[in-house]
Amino acid sequence: MSRVAFITLGCKVNQYETETMEGLFKKSGYEIVPHTEAADVYIINTCSVTSFGDKKSRQLIRRMRRLNPKSIIAVTGCYSQVAPEQVKAIDGVRVVIGTKGRKNIVEYVQQAMAEDGIIDRVEDVMKAREFEDIPLYEMPARTRAFLKIQEGCTNFCSYCIIPYTRGPIRSRRLESIRAEAKKLLDNGFKEIVLTGIHLGAYGRDFGDGTSLYDAARTVLELPGLRRLRLGSLESIELSPELLELIRTHPKFSHHLHLPLQVGSDEILRRMNRHYNRDEFTGLIKNVRDKIPGVAISTDVIVGFPGETEELFTQSLEYIRSLNFSRIHVFPYSPRTGTPAAAMKDQVSEPDKKDRVHRLQLVADKMAEDFHRTYLGTVQDVLFETNTEGITDGLTDTYIRVYTDDEVVTGEIYKVHLEKLYKDGVYGKIYERG
Ligand code: SF4
Repeated sequence: MSRVAFITLGCKVNQYETETMEGLFKKSGYEIVPHTEAADVYIINTCSVTSFGDKKSRQLIRRMRRLNPKSIIAVTGCYSQVAPEQVKAIDGVRVVIGTKGRKNIVEYVQQAMAEDGIIDRVEDVMKAREFEDIPLYEMPARTRAFLKIQEGCTNFCSYCIIPYTRGPIRSRRLESIRAEAKKLLDNGFKEIVLTGIHLGAYGRDFGDGTSLYDAARTVLELPGLRRLRLGSLESIELSPELLELIRTHPKFSHHLHLPLQVGSDEILRRMNRHYNRDEFTGLIKNVRDKIPGVAISTDVIVGFPGETEELFTQSLEYIRSLNFSRIHVFPYSPRTGTPAAAMKDQVSEPDKKDRVHRLQLVADKMAEDFHRTYLGTVQDVLFETNTEGITDGLTDTYIRVYTDDEVVTGEIYKVHLEKLYKDGVYGKIYERG
C-alpha cells in the first residue's frame, strides 16, 4: 500500500480541501501518514496570502524532497495557482495543480508514478463557473468540522491576491451542503463551521435569491447538530434575516468574525473596502443591539501603503472604541500583481513591526477584558485538544477554555469559568454531557 502525507498551509478553506483530498486517496487504497514520516507521495497544499506563505511553501517542498528523494511531490493551492512556473522550477516537484481540478489529484499522482516529467494541471481559474464539489470520503481528524460551501471572490480588495488565485464566486448546492453536513453529524461531530473564501456572497451565482441564510437554515434543521458557526464574513453582507436567525436559533453560535482591516477612512478607500468607519460602527451597534453579549472578532492589517503615523493612531483609537473580543493583527505584505503592491508610500518594515506590536497590546487587553466578563458564569465548551493533562476547547463565543478535569475531546461540557488563563480562561466541569 502506498503511503501519502499531507501538509496544509493557510486558511480553514485549505484545511477543508486537504481533508477532501485525504478522502480521495484513502478511497483509492492509500495509507495516510504524518508528514514527518517517509512517504511515497507528499501533497503540499500551499498558501499565497502573504509572501511568507510563498516562502514557507517553497521550504516545505524542499524539506519533503530531502525526507524521501524518490517520493512524488504534488503541489496544489493558491501559490501553485498564481506562480506555477516558480513551483515547477523547484527540484523534485512532479505534479502541479492550482485551486481547481483537485478531484483528479489521485489520477495525476498515479500518472506521475508511471511516467517521467512534470504533470502540470493548473487551470485558468478565472473561467471557473461551478463549485468543485468533492464529497468527504474520510472524516476529518478534528472535533469541529469545517464545511466549505463557497469558492472565489470578486471584491478585489487592493491588497489581496485571492480573487486571482480562486476566481469568481461559486456556491455549493443546498442539497450537497445538507448531505455533507448530515454525514459529519452522523459521524459524531457536534459543531459545524461554514466556511468559504467570500462566505457572505454564498448563493449570489445562483441568481435565484439563495443566500447564506438558506445555507445556515439547511444545516440548522439537521438532527444531531449542537452548534453552528460561521467563518469570516464581510460586515456589510450580514443580512437582517441572517442576523435574526443568529439571534433566535438556539444552536447558532453568538460569535461573528467581521473583518474591519483598518480604522481609517482614507486607507479603507485605498484598500477598496466597500464601507467607511461610520457604516462599520453602525453595523456593529446594530449586531450588538440585536444580540446582546455577541462576540465580535476581527482582522486588522497594519502598515498598508500610505498609512502615516497619524492615520495609524486614528485607526488604533477607532479600534479601541469597538471592544472586539479578539483581533488578528497582520502586517501588510505586498503581493505581486495587486494594485497595492504598486502603490507609492510603502511603509517601512520597522514601522510595520512597531505598529503590529502596539496594536497587539490593545488586542490582548481587549481579549482579556472580554474574557473577564465571563468569569463566574457557566458556558458550554466543546473540548478539542489535550496536552499534558490540560484539555482546551471553545465556548459558543469563541473563548478558549482550559481545564485539568477529565474530559473527552469532541464532547461538549458545561464549564464554570473561574479565572483568566493563558490566552483564555481556566474552568472546572460543572456538568457533563
Ligand atoms: S473580500 Fe477582499 S480580502 Fe476577502 S478574499 Fe475578497 S478580495 Fe480578499
